[in-house]
Amino acid sequence: RIRVMWFRRDLRLSDNAALYYALRSGTPVLPIFIFDRNILDKLEDKNDRRVEFIHAAITEIQEQLLKMGSSMEVYYGYPEEVYIKIQKKYDIEAVFTNHDYEPYAQERDNAIAAILQAQGTDFKSYKDQVIFEKSEVVKDDHKPYTVFSPYARKWRAKLTDFYLKAYPTEIYFHNFYKQSPVAVPSLESMGFHAVDLPFPSKALEEAIIRHYGENRNFPALEKGTSRMGVHLRFGTVSIRYLARKAMEWNDVYLNELIWRDFYHAILWHFPQVGKGASFKPEYDKIEWRNNEAEFEHWCRGTTGYPIVDAGMRELNATGYMHNRVRMIVASFLTKHLLIDWRWGEAYFAQKLLDFDLAANNGGWQWASSSGCDAAPYFRVFNPTLQTEKFDKDLRYIRKWVPELNEFNYPKPIVQHELARKRVLEVYAKGLKGL
Ligand code: FAD
Repeated sequence: RIRVMWFRRDLRLSDNAALYYALRSGTPVLPIFIFDRNILDKLEDKNDRRVEFIHAAITEIQEQLLKMGSSMEVYYGYPEEVYIKIQKKYDIEAVFTNHDYEPYAQERDNAIAAILQAQGTDFKSYKDQVIFEKSEVVKDDHKPYTVFSPYARKWRAKLTDFYLKAYPTEIYFHNFYKQSPVAVPSLESMGFHAVDLPFPSKALEEAIIRHYGENRNFPALEKGTSRMGVHLRFGTVSIRYLARKAMEWNDVYLNELIWRDFYHAILWHFPQVGKGASFKPEYDKIEWRNNEAEFEHWCRGTTGYPIVDAGMRELNATGYMHNRVRMIVASFLTKHLLIDWRWGEAYFAQKLLDFDLAANNGGWQWASSSGCDAAPYFRVFNPTLQTEKFDKDLRYIRKWVPELNEFNYPKPIVQHELARKRVLEVYAKGLKGL
């Protein structure tokens, strides 16, 4: 009889909640990973670097397991079919995994749990991805928070060492199921290819975090932010470790990690936002212009607004964009161009290495003012002023828009003052009655 540890967005052996509980009893634990075709089949870009990232992380875990005489079984297929297969092969006491809060994952897990339970196998899931989940941080009347500041205050008040301590999985590593090496399917066998570009390092640099408060808003700085996004997305770094270091080194950094928990909680309590609904339903009455040619300019980074173009080109080239610039390009798309925030959300979802439904949706709805923001919709970022404040010497812009001072740099596709007037009118009309 064995236990199964199902890895998903928690791709590490150390400080992993479900793995700890699986290993603890002494029953041998078989680690598995499924390259989920329900997700992969939808990816049009066969050079998708997120698949490559996962593949590299799995390969690293496999190397660690082989040294212990164990091996992960890596499948490429549809999870329900994979489980039917595994259940025929092994006598499984229980499957252990960590919570995934996204609507698709919820449905998938419910279906798998039903298949397993029909055969007498337990499905056990744990909190691992966030510090506080679901209803752990709610108002005194048990309703969810919808504004960040009071949420963050409650989050901080609730925090004790208990929530930050690492799960000491290492002491039970001898309980992995022993078997000879099972090959990890190659990227190519699944129809994907590797791209020759580095991923952000897993190491958290103390100097970056210590100076995070002063540096985080300047996109030209290579080391202004931590680049932990992709590692948090796939669990290659533990959120508890980051939160502990933030407590030690910098409170502003901790605050950003709280934003992450906040958006996860929003998605959990209001799953409709992950399925295309505005958090504030009245914002679905706005009449977007949705001009496809303008959208194309935005995507390609040819709007004629250098800071917007630099951001989009950075995204297209690297899968990353600095947070300040994400806010600027998102505001530009929704407010200046009056293009539905869902178009921008979908584009980011395709391109971002650190794409995360909760944070991405939260960011987009914040930018379009349809989301969890106490401020009214009048905020329209002025790209020129943003540049003066955050990229004064144009270092970031010149890196991505080298032709800036040449004749062939495009003229702005829309004039700022006109766009500002237009969006205020269109929003007021859509929201009339507010
Ligand atoms: P750092 O500044 O070093 O922050 C550390 C970590 O804190 C991040 O890795 C992230 O996990 C978390 N964090 C920081 N800011 C936020 C925030 N505003 N909301 C939620 N978590 C935050 N973040 C994603 O992880 N995935 C996304 O798909 C995503 N889409 C976004 C879309 C828009 C329109 C906007 C405005 C923001 C989005 N963000 C998203 C938030 C933020 O821009 C990124 O987390 C950050 O830029 C990643 O870089 P970093 O790891 O260097 O972050």
